[in-house]
Amino acid sequence: MDAITSQRRTRTASMPCLKITEVESIPLRIGFKAPHKIAVGPFRPTIDILLVRVHTDEGITGIGETQAWRRHGSSETIASLRTAIHDYFAPLLLGKSPFDIAAIMPKLEETIYHSYYAQAGIADALIDIQGKALGVPAFAMLGGKCRDMISMCGLLSIKPTLDETLNDANRLFGEGYRTFVIKTDSNVDSNVRAVRAVREKLGDDVHIRIDSNSGMRFDTALEMLQRLEPFRLQGAEQLLEIWDLDGTAELARRTSIPLIADEQIANDHDLIGVIRKRAAFAFQSKVAKNGGLWYSRKLWQIADGAGMLVCPGNHPCTSIATASVAHLATAWQSPLLEGPFAFGLNALVDDVVVTPMKVENAAVRAPEGPGLGLALDEDKIEKLRIDR
Ligand SMILES: [Mg+2]
Repeated sequence: MDAITSQRRTRTASMPCLKITEVESIPLRIGFKAPHKIAVGPFRPTIDILLVRVHTDEGITGIGETQAWRRHGSSETIASLRTAIHDYFAPLLLGKSPFDIAAIMPKLEETIYHSYYAQAGIADALIDIQGKALGVPAFAMLGGKCRDMISMCGLLSIKPTLDETLNDANRLFGEGYRTFVIKTDSNVDSNVRAVRAVREKLGDDVHIRIDSNSGMRFDTALEMLQRLEPFRLQGAEQLLEIWDLDGTAELARRTSIPLIADEQIANDHDLIGVIRKRAAFAFQSKVAKNGGLWYSRKLWQIADGAGMLVCPGNHPCTSIATASVAHLATAWQSPLLEGPFAFGLNALVDDVVVTPMKVENAAVRAPEGPGLGLALDEDKIEKLRIDR
């Protein structure tokens, strides 16, 4: 045997040889500590979460998470997510190697167009398996460590009174937050009052952004931006409906406040549309909205190449989707806007892993264990699942 053949054989022998044997999904409902309110929809007392567990013939299982968010950009329910995963995705996954993610994920998209919310749980479970099989954390497979801690913004959801908003801002400031995102609605007067009050309360050394979650019309958004010009906002996020890219680009030209795109961007085509129109200076990603860690990374790279900043976000979620973003951010070579990707850790009443992730001094560290670095707490799962 010559040296090259010997080397090839050694390499082949070291590649883990796993096959997917089963795809499991676990629907959960977790309460908010305080009802969550954004511009669209009523106060929300709970969030529906779907965990995905992918099993292999070697006994290694991977876990991923998605959510049935049911607001702009998301039409899924727990039932529709499970139908996509079990009836359409599972037959394509069985017998495949979890390492073949680049071949697998486009097949899922081909099978159900625009199914990023369902794909997210699968993609993250596959990456979790890869890391566990190799014995390395996900961030190591994504390029290694560019930062130890990922800074967070504090999220101020819409409250019935301004005093409640200020109390939340004060509490978050005490916990170490220095960037604040105020959720705003279509009421320009109350939005301006909230921004002014938070600026006066916390001073000029904090960053303040707003997020309207697609809930404004063009004229009211323009009026609001003009009235907010004196308050040195770091950004204004997703003011208009997701279809109104031209309107968003027009707003960007008529204000000095930088705009951020969120619900508007599900995939690379959406992102490139925003880039071409210069409609935002940053985009917020979410594990579920953007098809999991695998596809989110592609979007981050496109944004980076276009000179946009990335803001790591998430719907309210458990440690699992939080860890997905934390691994990606840990291995990210460029600056990041402080995002709300881990706000579910403190906003929800419960978690589903043995060692929940923690926000410490307004920052989060990616788990160091193999894969996503988390183990499910089976007792918690039994308590929170809604299919029994
Ligand atoms: Mg947002």
